[in-house]
Amino acid sequence: MSEPLLYESHSHTPLCKHAHGWPDEYAAVAERRGLKGLIVTCHNPMPNGFSAAVRMAEDEFENYIELVEKTREQLMGRVDVRLGIEADYFEGMEAYLERQLQSADFQFVLGSVHPQISEWRERYWHDDAIEVQRRYFHLLAKAAETGLFDSISHPDLIKNFMTWDPDAVFSDICDALDRIAKTGVAMELNTSGVNKTVSEMNPMPSMLSEISKRGIPITLGADAHEPLRVGDGFETALRLLSESGFSRVSYFLERERRELKIDEALATLKPL
Ligand SMILES: [Zn+2]
Ligand SMILES: [Zn+2]
Repeated sequence: MSEPLLYESHSHTPLCKHAHGWPDEYAAVAERRGLKGLIVTCHNPMPNGFSAAVRMAEDEFENYIELVEKTREQLMGRVDVRLGIEADYFEGMEAYLERQLQSADFQFVLGSVHPQISEWRERYWHDDAIEVQRRYFHLLAKAAETGLFDSISHPDLIKNFMTWDPDAVFSDICDALDRIAKTGVAMELNTSGVNKTVSEMNPMPSMLSEISKRGIPITLGADAHEPLRVGDGFETALRLLSESGFSRVSYFLERERRELKIDEALATLKPL
């Protein structure tokens, strides 16, 4: 049996109020799946009650860091548990985010645009669906351009919340990818998309091919909100990456990107 190599790079905790199970339970599943590590990336605190129902409160931030550290010590030698965060990108909150991201020893920072939250809807959902989708992809590029994030999460999430015709916005997607490619920031293949309204991983295959053409690195995450989803769909995801032109998959430790050969990573995975 090959040594574990791959990390789960997107997982949550009960602090975000919509996930179940503690990090040690997620880590136990990571171990069974043949993963080397688990990066805990719960939803970051935001100021002034911003979408407070789906994220940890500001005064829980220290608890979160301690929780991950405690789990890291507990699982040492079995699963490499690391502190990460899924940070919302919302225009105007860059300075707040910059301070927050410097205030802890994060190993990996996901940058997310969540178009379903009420603050985003109120600010950006005024025009027709195509205009809203254009704005979403523009904001993904803008998020990458801030330099605050290592990887841009679930980068076609918008398709689940409105009528979706990818051809109608494909040139906007390509423009956003051109901008992201210039930043060196990675993008995520998120396997939880298969459980959403448009049942396919995020991003869709045609977008993955465009990402590959531009040499943008890909990180892999199940976006686990319960322990049993750790590493979910990773075999399918890795094969999809190969078919889309990638030979390597990336993950971040100490905020530095590392790469694995896809065929080698694939050989280490175990069924649950
Ligand atoms: Zn997210
Ligand atoms: Zn998430």
